Amino acid sequence: MAKVTIERPECISCESCWTVCPEIFEQDPADGLSSIKKEYRVNDNPAEGEVPDDLIDCAIEAADACPVAIIEVEG
Ligand code: SF4
Repeated sequence: MAKVTIERPECISCESCWTVCPEIFEQDPADGLSSIKKEYRVNDNPAEGEVPDDLIDCAIEAADACPVAIIEVEG
């Protein structure tokens, strides 16, 4: 498992993360910002998730693709 966080207020909705890794990230229809998909959220928080090992590479690719470097993957 790895922890994934998004500094949502800094998101510029560039679409990279949910294009590169739609398994984990999605665009929140309410505010247009990047969110962790419901199934991986911690405490239903769209900015924080726990993802299984087989999705860690996907999360890292998304973090690397983020132009404002606000996605963090730990673990
Ligand atoms: S890659 Fe970064 S800036 Fe772009 S939508 Fe995702 S979190 Fe937002």
